[in-house]
Amino acid sequence: MSKQILILPGDGIGPEIMAEAVKVLEVANSKFNLGFELSFDDLGGAAYDRYGVPLADETLERARAADAILLGAVGGPKWDTIDPALRPERGLLKIRSELGLFGNLRPAILYPQLAQASTLKPEVVSGLDILIVRELTGGIYFGKPRERTTLENGERMAFDTLPYSESEVRRIAKVGFDMAMVRNKKLCSVDKANVLASSQLWREVVEEVAKDYPEVELSHMYVDNAAMQLVRAPKQFDVMVTDNMFGDILSDQASMLTGSIGMLPSASLDVNNKGMYEPCHGSAPDIAGQGIANPLATILSVSMMLRYSFAQVAAADAIEQAVSQVLDQGLRTGDILSEGCRKVGTVEMGDAVVAALKNL
Ligand code: NAD
Repeated sequence: MSKQILILPGDGIGPEIMAEAVKVLEVANSKFNLGFELSFDDLGGAAYDRYGVPLADETLERARAADAILLGAVGGPKWDTIDPALRPERGLLKIRSELGLFGNLRPAILYPQLAQASTLKPEVVSGLDILIVRELTGGIYFGKPRERTTLENGERMAFDTLPYSESEVRRIAKVGFDMAMVRNKKLCSVDKANVLASSQLWREVVEEVAKDYPEVELSHMYVDNAAMQLVRAPKQFDVMVTDNMFGDILSDQASMLTGSIGMLPSASLDVNNKGMYEPCHGSAPDIAGQGIANPLATILSVSMMLRYSFAQVAAADAIEQAVSQVLDQGLRTGDILSEGCRKVGTVEMGDAVVAALKNL
């Protein structure tokens, strides 16, 4: 039976990078007989322009019916002044929460060819391979009450709420342990248990889940220390599991260890491993329409999709190998350019990966 992939290119550089990822997906589809059928729709600003909302009901239904979703990126200055409830990013938050995509996997892998592109010393980052598992549908980004008000003395004040239930912590902790089991069996749970009640519960529940994974070496770290350790000695980490906000910040920090956010894919999974796959970066309005965006994060998101939603390990490995070969050839988009390499645009980079994949 064929598998349905819903493609949501989004805004800004989204359509440009997605066009390259789709070319790669189509080659993988025929080379490995994957039986994928692709369909396309809009999300974010593009959906607002077409449907009047950042996520139309029919798009959500299509997403529910699909076996996996591939997303570019959303947002841009064109929609910065519209009603906040209709902004592109709201569409993204809604699709994640409606589909129950609570488990966000964000690898930070440094390709050896790009060691010079990191702002850290090559010996600190070379060989880096970390996986950050971020809780994606709970915590402070969704907690209620959230309010902005004016005090009796006329001062403005605002507050947010950081709630976590036991079951929310348990299911993301399991993802962390499962990932550690297929990697180096080391899991670091990041929290702020010295201050936050939600973090104290987090730590307690992670300890309980650990009993089912005796082979995994579990450690706990406060988030402030984790931020420091990530730049001091990042290779001490294998898998990190953390809440929504801490994961948001730490995974961006980790991405820069690898030189460019333009290289990093991500997966957001539900309880059945159905997932939405997207690059970690945003819609980069500053370079949109110029044909210079790096498509590799989106291409590597295709590889994550094949690996995690469809267990097509050979096809996933082949895409990663094709990317590595293209880097070996010295081809670089502007964000990862270093001396002695050849600067290429979005399409040329995509074409090179397609050619390498066909020849494998
Ligand atoms: P961004 O990730 O879009 O861009 C940050 C910087 O990285 C920019 O200088 C950009 O040119 C560069 N960059 C990003 N992707 C690149 C690529 N593939 N190749 C080369 N360079 C790349 O973040 P931002 O500027 O803070 O946000 C821009 C818009 O994207 C905003 O509207 C924001 O809300 C949205 N956003 C969306 C997502 C998402 O769709 N998942 C994530 C983050 C931000």
